[in-house]
This record gives sequence, structure tokens and C-alpha cells, in this order.
Amino acid sequence: MTRKILTVVGARPQFIKAAAVSRAIRESDGLREVMIHTGQHFDADMSDVFFDELDIPPPAHRLDIHGGGHGDMTGRMLSAIEPVLMSERPDWVVVYGDTNSTLAGALAAAKLHIPIAHVEAGLRSFNRRMPEEINRVLTDHLASLQFCPTSQAVENLEAEGIKTGVHHAGDVMYDATTFAASRAKGRSTIVSDMSLAPKQYSLATVHRAENTDDPKSLRAIVDFLKREAKNLPIVLPLHPRTRQAAEKSGVSLDGLRVIGPVGYLDMATLLNGAAAAYTDSGGLQKEAYFHRVPCTTLRDETEWVETVTHGWNRLWKGAEFLPRRDIGEYGDGRAAHVIADIIKAA
Ligand code: UDP
Repeated sequence: MTRKILTVVGARPQFIKAAAVSRAIRESDGLREVMIHTGQHFDADMSDVFFDELDIPPPAHRLDIHGGGHGDMTGRMLSAIEPVLMSERPDWVVVYGDTNSTLAGALAAAKLHIPIAHVEAGLRSFNRRMPEEINRVLTDHLASLQFCPTSQAVENLEAEGIKTGVHHAGDVMYDATTFAASRAKGRSTIVSDMSLAPKQYSLATVHRAENTDDPKSLRAIVDFLKREAKNLPIVLPLHPRTRQAAEKSGVSLDGLRVIGPVGYLDMATLLNGAAAAYTDSGGLQKEAYFHRVPCTTLRDETEWVETVTHGWNRLWKGAEFLPRRDIGEYGDGRAAHVIADIIKAA
């Protein structure tokens, strides 16, 4: 019997993670997938480019929901996802990470008694002021299958009493990185197009609400990046939220090489050639390690603690890099297949 999986995605990091699992589902005999795109990210360079580059089939349902406050957006998604689930009647709902789309998908499924699988389960910043933390805690508690990228994530769930359905599956972002590395060869020319020399520049991203919403925080980060850019130029592919916040609060980005958001293949190429990374993105902290690029995290805490303990990551206001060691946590690039196989057998 073929199992029907309904995948809910909506934001950039989810397209990247879902691409890996979607490929594994297509390669699996006993599974088929229907996708909902909530519309949380909708610009071509924040959405379509990932579907094109990563071979994600077009979503069967596009809800076109974005903007508004967190509660408003999550609520509109919840009421739009429910009728889709009622008509599609999937065996499983699969959600990714920690966005409003994740929580809305999980809540809609839970209320219809449809089992939920959460990919990238168990991450904790222990900072409940982050919208992402609320989304991931609630989703983990609603899910029947929790796919953890690290053993720390497994421990975090255990500490909250979640012990069944928990799997240390590896990190689908590592799958995505290996896919992009082979696909980007010969296709991505961004480093030469920008006249950058390998290891003679750094790469930065900034988009977290905690860093962009308060002009003082944004200014402090931008000033820090400008100081670092005196050593090596910094390329900053700018998230639309950060661009708006900088314009609104009059924070000048002069002194940084600002470009628009880039596709995943260009991002992988830029990162691979970078001497250092600066970011508040969860995904990029690990991708920096996958490309063996030291990362400075522009936050006061990180969910990816092993990147810090193994010397590949540091907090911008924290201690210096620890001695470097390999991290044996993230799997062998086949986490998506592990996930597909477990769902098939569940
Ligand atoms: N990314 C990208 N283009 C960009 C900036 C980021 O492809 O211009 C990728 C990045 O490599 C990572 C993912 O988007 O895989 C991270 O997404 P984001 O920072 O939006 O979310 P987070 O990882 O913090 O959840």
C-alpha cells in the first residue's frame, strides 16, 4: 500500500530541507507526496529559485499567505491548511524546522488526528522570546515522529519527556549541501562574476527578527560587520526583511558588498570560497562547517552547540574559537532516505 505524505513548506530553509526529503520520497516505492506552499516566502529569489534549482515538483496547493503579525499569519495558515488536509486525507503530514508554516501545518494536522513527522526536531535555543523557539517546541510536542539532526536534539526532547518516535536521523541540510556541491559545478559563476578571489572575502547573512526589528541591534551588527570588513571584504546577500529594516531605521550598509538574496547553488559556491562566515541563520552555521569555513554567529546563543564545542563556530560576543575537531553528528548525506524509510515503516 502506498502511503500519502502531505508536506507543508513556506519559507526558504524549508524548501532546501524538503527538496532532499522529496527526492528520497520519489525514490521510494511505497510513498507519494503532495505539497502545500503556504506562501510565507513568495519572492522569486526567496522561493521559485529553490524549486527550480533543487528539482522540487510544483506544489499542488499554494495558499499565498504572508505578512501580518505572527498570530495573524499563523492563524490564517491554520484555517487555510485544514480544508486541504480534509480533502487530501494524507497518512502523514511532514513539517520542517521552526517557522509559522511549521506550526500551522502541525496544528492543523493534530486537530484532524493526522500523524505528524517533524524534520529538524529537538533543537532548542532556550530563548522563548524567539518566535522560532515557540514554533519548534509546540511542533515537537504535537508530532508522532521526531527526526533529530543531532544527539543533543534527542537529549533536548528527552528532557521534555518526548521519548517515543524520536530518531537521530542526521541532518538533511548535509544532504542538501552534498547535492548542491555537485550541482553547482559549472552552473554557478557568482564568485568570478563578482570578481572575488577564493578565500579573499567573507560571507554574511542577517535576517532574525531579534536582530532586525530593533534598530539598535541592527546597527550594532552592521557596525561589527563593517569593522570586520576592514580585514577582508564581506559579501552580504540581503534578506528582504533586513533591507526594509535598514531602510526604515536609516542604518547604512556602505562598506559591505550588498547583493540580493541568491539561489542555493550560488550560496553554496559563495560559502565554499569564503574565508569566514558571519550569520544569524541556523542553516548557514552548519553549512559553514560542511564547507570547512569558520563561522561567527551573530546571536547570543545557538541551537547548534556542537559547532561551537568542535571549534567551527563562535558567538560574536562570546569566547574565541575552541580547537577544531570534526563533528560526527550530521549523518552521511542520506538523512532524507533514513527519514523516508522510517515513515514508510511507521
Ligand atoms: N540561503 C540562500 N540564499 C541566500 C541566503 C541563504 O540560499 O541568499 C540559504 C542558506 O544557505 C541556508 C538557508 O538559506 O541553507 C538558510 O535560510 P535562512 O537563513 O532564511 O533560515 P534559517 O537557516 O535561519 O532557518
